[in-house]
Amino acid sequence: MAATIIDGRLMAADIRAEIAQEVSELRTQSGVQPGLAAVLVGDDPASAVYVRNKRRACDDAGMISETFTLDADAPQEEIVSLVRRLNADERFHGILVQLPLPGHVDERDVIAEISPDKDVDGMHPVNGGRLLEGRPRFVPATPAAVQTMLMRSGADPAGKHVVILGRSNIVGKPLAALLMQRGPGGNATVTLCHTATPDVAEHTRRADVVVAAAGRPRMVTADMIREGAVVIDVGINRVPDASAKSGSRLVGDVDFDAVSAKARAITPVPGGVGPMTITMLLRNTLQAARYAAGAD
Ligand code: NAD
Repeated sequence: MAATIIDGRLMAADIRAEIAQEVSELRTQSGVQPGLAAVLVGDDPASAVYVRNKRRACDDAGMISETFTLDADAPQEEIVSLVRRLNADERFHGILVQLPLPGHVDERDVIAEISPDKDVDGMHPVNGGRLLEGRPRFVPATPAAVQTMLMRSGADPAGKHVVILGRSNIVGKPLAALLMQRGPGGNATVTLCHTATPDVAEHTRRADVVVAAAGRPRMVTADMIREGAVVIDVGINRVPDASAKSGSRLVGDVDFDAVSAKARAITPVPGGVGPMTITMLLRNTLQAARYAAGAD
């Protein structure tokens, strides 16, 4: 039987409408309008697109958003002093430093400068620690998107075996911490595979839920998936495609056509986790504004 498609665009539109409503209520009740500052260093076209999409989503939700752009060769001290200025700027409840930063900059040092109360990407070590403790304040957007997609599509991870491919600080590791937590949206048994896992398929074949975040185009093939599993594809990979006008197209980490004939539910790429990730950033920014307004 063909899998149900978990439509990230549709789900994101619903949640963004809810967020817009909550933004409007917060403004009426407390006069606080949530604000997001995005820091963009250099002229990487993909980063510029990501930041533009995030800002547009903020505007649509009734939030303030502003992008602060620095040259690619801006010294680390200049980036840090911008972050400190934004920490003190009451217009902004959330600060987003778009990664990757240029090679001469130590990303961890810059992220450590963001006030944990404005760290809506959940990347500051304090927020990582809170997540591990089971008392998250800002969950990184992509893991939050995966969890929300599971819950809203009726695939509660509780009691399930979830196999995650990828151990990055932005996706794999925080997602494992999130899904293994005690409480709603958690209670899963989590296996995390990475480049040093000898036989990834041995794990995925036993999974109720597979989350692919390895950045390897179509690496998850049908033989790696159990009949009736739920498959969440985080991967975004550009591959050559002679039939496309641009000469390339985006695919996920999952061989979508073959796997969707076997899975119970699956997310597409594009139109899956991506739109939901931006939505979770909006949710975190709203949450940060609520804290600042004393509303939570
Ligand atoms: P990353 O390169 O930092 O990490 C990839 C991880 O995958 C590594 O930990 C590595 O150990 C693991 N890995 C690589 N090959 C593997 C294999 N064959 N088997 C098992 N594990 C393997 O990447 P990232 O930042 O975590 O992103 C992963 C993918 O998700 C990328 O394609 C990225 O573009 C995409 N992404 C999408 C969103 C979204 O909003 N949809 C957000 C963030 C990242």
